[in-house]
Amino acid sequence: MEQVIIIGTGCAGFTSAIYTGRANLKPLILAGTQPGGQLTTTTEVENFPGFPEGITGPELMSRMQQQAEKFGARILYEVVESIEHRKDGTFLLKTGSAEHEAKSVIVATGAAPRHLGLDGEKELIGHGLTSCATCDGAFYRDVPVCVIGGGDSACEEADFLTRFASKVYLIHRRDELRASKIMAKRVLENEKIEVVWDSVVTRYLPDDQGEMRAVILHNVKNDSERELKVKCVFVAIGHIPNSEFLGDLVERDENGYILREGNRTATKTTGLFAAGDVADHYYRQAVSAAGQGCAAALEAERHLAEI
Ligand code: NAP
Repeated sequence: MEQVIIIGTGCAGFTSAIYTGRANLKPLILAGTQPGGQLTTTTEVENFPGFPEGITGPELMSRMQQQAEKFGARILYEVVESIEHRKDGTFLLKTGSAEHEAKSVIVATGAAPRHLGLDGEKELIGHGLTSCATCDGAFYRDVPVCVIGGGDSACEEADFLTRFASKVYLIHRRDELRASKIMAKRVLENEKIEVVWDSVVTRYLPDDQGEMRAVILHNVKNDSERELKVKCVFVAIGHIPNSEFLGDLVERDENGYILREGNRTATKTTGLFAAGDVADHYYRQAVSAAGQGCAAALEAERHLAEI
């Protein structure tokens, strides 16, 4: 019987592991489908405090892992398929290959950015294809870029990118933005942003070095096609929180994000805590996820002291 099992190895999961490890709880971490989390898909991270010279996403995650292991965390590369909350208050976690028991569980499974599913997508991620303007926007100074999507995220990213890019195309599949009025207004009034209506990207075109060079746009109204030269494509068509495997142990909002109790990381199931992007569609930053991982660890510690 484990004291605490942490599901997920992004910033939230590893921070929970560092804290519960230092509290001598010997956390077991189940790594999930993307070991290291979303930061492993980015290149340089310039906004994580403590690294004034910047650090790559994979290096940052590798350091967090070392720090967690230094305090006794163990990692198994298993994917949790289901969790049962038993009558005695403990949890039974089933992965594809094993079962684990725990007195408390921290869910830090993150969210996966939605992508279009086009050819060559995987190879281009981090080479002119990204889902995070805050992370990568500053690398694209004085060059044209585009954002795909028509929601609040797309508008926010487009607006943010005008600080760096020479021009920002906002490519939306309809003739009306989904975003809130205030965000839409900001975009429509920004001279550096050109909204490309009724259009979808059907192909990414890399250059000889494998970096993004252009996209092919298809106008869904008049069926025409054209090439648009952009150095980076920011995909903002939503995220999918990895919360499904929890069944009815948690409440979710309409997009699948876990709802927590007040300002805490506690969920509706006693002993089950949620930290990071799986429960947070608002901040979605490495450092805010790490902060929530710390909070979940402290709450789990208190829960264990009380039972
Ligand atoms: P969203 O509101 O679901 O918008 C996704 C956008 O992507 C929509 O415009 C959608 O088009 C488009 N889209 C989806 N699938 C597509 C596809 N396959 N091809 C092309 N376009 C596609 O997601 P979000 O913008 O990430 O926002 C998620 C939640 O967070 C929302 O509740 C939002 O209000 C909130 N949020 C708030 C703020 C803020 O207040 N500052 C900032 C960011 C996010 P359609 O419109 O045609 O469906």
